[in-house]
Amino acid sequence: EHANQAKSRFLANMSHEIRTPINGILGMDNMILKESSESNIREYAENIQSAGQILLNLVNDILDISKIESEKMDIVPVSYELFSVLNDCYNMTIIRAQNKSLSFRMEVDPAICSTLYGDEVRVRQVIYNLLSNAVKYTKEGEIVLRMSYKSIDDTQMLLCVEVEDTGIGIRQEDIGHLFNSFERFDEEANRNIEGTGLGLNLTKKLVNMMQGEITVKSVYGKGSVFRVEIPQGIVSYVPMGDFQELFRKHSVVVQDKIEKICAPDARILVVDDVAMNLKVICGLLKATKIHVDTAMSGKEALQMIAGQKYDIIFLDHMMPELDGIATFREMKRLKENKNPCTPVIMLTANAIVGAREEYLEEGFTDYLSKPVQEAELIQMLAKYLPEKLQQVTRR
Ligand code: ADP
Repeated sequence: EHANQAKSRFLANMSHEIRTPINGILGMDNMILKESSESNIREYAENIQSAGQILLNLVNDILDISKIESEKMDIVPVSYELFSVLNDCYNMTIIRAQNKSLSFRMEVDPAICSTLYGDEVRVRQVIYNLLSNAVKYTKEGEIVLRMSYKSIDDTQMLLCVEVEDTGIGIRQEDIGHLFNSFERFDEEANRNIEGTGLGLNLTKKLVNMMQGEITVKSVYGKGSVFRVEIPQGIVSYVPMGDFQELFRKHSVVVQDKIEKICAPDARILVVDDVAMNLKVICGLLKATKIHVDTAMSGKEALQMIAGQKYDIIFLDHMMPELDGIATFREMKRLKENKNPCTPVIMLTANAIVGAREEYLEEGFTDYLSKPVQEAELIQMLAKYLPEKLQQVTRR
């Protein structure tokens, strides 16, 4: 038991250490994709992206499983919009499905409550895993995501999700082992499908942690249906309405929001102990002409904010010595601080996204998950840079 816990702790630490350089590689590679128009260079960079993503997903799965095994993972319930989860699932799957010429359909009960209470991040992760397997193990035909609900009482409902595919199917005798870790079937036939056999094990663990159930029906050679039922709290009884219609409206809004910001008079501070992460953010902000100062430790950041007023401060959480939270607390105490009212945004590794509420309680203005995505970074700037500094042009 003791050795097993030590193993899980080791895996959790290792995965964290491995994620940092992978994020650096992907971030730098993103710069190449942004700046190069040479087709062969772009092709190499695209291959780095897809291999890097596979590696990152794998490390994330190992991290999650070892966190569950060492009892370090908590379910963090929040109030969330169901549409946003479905919208992300759609966007993630449609591209992968189209790349394989598969059709993808969503059937969502329009009467389903729009705002729920539960761990949005984990609910999304469970559905993602099932959809990503469905695409992976299907050569032709279609993938369907169905969502409906069953009433439990006034405050709770059972969220029912089905992912159906017309893929290779699973033999009856294999179904019993499906949720074990590192089990993969038909290895001969699936030789060129990337995978580790961790996904379903993790999915089942997450579903169980949320007091839910997962079942599967499959006909070998014809296809499979994975069904998940998870109890969720009800925040708003207002029905979500027709998903397709909401999706169309939402896409128009998002398109409208993609802006290019130019703010040559703005000055921001980015604090991260990993030089490559700083380079990635500076690279992403190059076109904005914003003046970016960087600091590689909490201590250095404290010196800088005593000497300079910034428009936004981005502060990494995981840093040696003074971490992000300790630095933030010191900032509040610092007499010479020229930034008592500057928005401070926490940069968080995805793995600890469960702590998001804590950051806001601590007094951070907002948080941004790492690896930092360009669109999200620009959105933060649009939200928190004083308007008079922004010269906005629509793309
Ligand atoms: P991975 O996909 O990384 O191998 P999973 O734990 O997600 O790991 O799945 C375990 C195994 O279950 C897969 O290797 C595959 O053999 C089988 N499997 C999972 N989902 C499907 C599906 N939708 N259709 C057919 N087989 C599946």
